[in-house]
Amino acid sequence: MFYLIIFIFGAVFGSFFNVCISRIPIKKSVVFPDSSCPTCKTKIKSYHNIPIISYILLKGKCSYCGAKINIHYFLVELLTPILLMLLFASQNSEISLVFFKYAIFISFGLIIFFIDLYHHIIPDKLSLPLVAIGFIFSFLPNTDVGWMSAGIGALSGFILFLFTAFFFHKTTGKDGLGGGDIKLIAAIGAFLGVEGTLFTVLFSSLVALVVLLISKHDRKRQFPFGPFLIIGALVYILAGNTLVELYLRLYNIY
Ligand SMILES: [Zn+2]
Repeated sequence: MFYLIIFIFGAVFGSFFNVCISRIPIKKSVVFPDSSCPTCKTKIKSYHNIPIISYILLKGKCSYCGAKINIHYFLVELLTPILLMLLFASQNSEISLVFFKYAIFISFGLIIFFIDLYHHIIPDKLSLPLVAIGFIFSFLPNTDVGWMSAGIGALSGFILFLFTAFFFHKTTGKDGLGGGDIKLIAAIGAFLGVEGTLFTVLFSSLVALVVLLISKHDRKRQFPFGPFLIIGALVYILAGNTLVELYLRLYNIY
């Protein structure tokens, strides 16, 4: 039952995150959005604005002019509830302070993921509040990452950032990390603490390198690193305990 409620809430929130993804980069207000087609400006009817379902029924096109609706509308409306349900499951199906903490991180994370992917920027408007929220949670009782670990996490994230930027530049010959990434790593540090930050930076660097090598990404083009950091952080949040357990089990065998 809880899962159904989380799914519905997630889909509705995801719908709002899509507004953020479309509007924050062009500095438009996300409050009281008038849902209209970006191509023909026709106001979207409320029954065409149902998360997930409408995209499928309209086959990803505007019902008036037939312009393609960006796939992120569908992905975010689907990913938000799925990630929140996975988070709920990883928290032993309990609504706790830690659940809310990571629900906030997942929300910001999804928005940052797509904005960085499309525009190669991580707006301060998103990353700086996320740093602050991470630290606020670290001072609350019954939290999973205390303020010490959050502080060291943010600091070690900064140091790792410099090393990774250097290593990335050496191996790929391009600057993969920008000023936006450093604020994102600080936020990840504040949320996940030392171990989580180390895991995230190492994991995301590895995935980014593999993707770069496989995709034969044009070396002259800019490469957004933020999405990889988000993926690394999400893997740690949703599966960190399981991964550590697996590692320890392997360690015991050999
Ligand atoms: Zn249209």
